[in-house]
Amino acid sequence: MSYKPMISNVRKASSNDKEGLYEFIINLADGTECRAFFNRFPEWKMTNISRLQKTPCPVCRKDFICKCMESFKSELEQQLEEHQWFDKAIAE
Ligand SMILES: [Zn+2]
Repeated sequence: MSYKPMISNVRKASSNDKEGLYEFIINLADGTECRAFFNRFPEWKMTNISRLQKTPCPVCRKDFICKCMESFKSELEQQLEEHQWFDKAIAE
């Protein structure tokens, strides 16, 4: 797989702070937009991700629902950690 997602922005869509559950909208540099769900306890973990169908999938080029983004969960989690996107998104 040669596709490499690059996160360009993250914003909080909804949250349950008490339970540590968060929904983030993640924008990628290529224009792809994803909705991702996280559980922050005991540490940040992506529980689900799906592409918002605004632009075709950058991996399979479909413009309807597909599962491609799930393959990049760990890659995206790593970038979220490295660039402290969680803190930024929550602070907004
Ligand atoms: Zn796809």
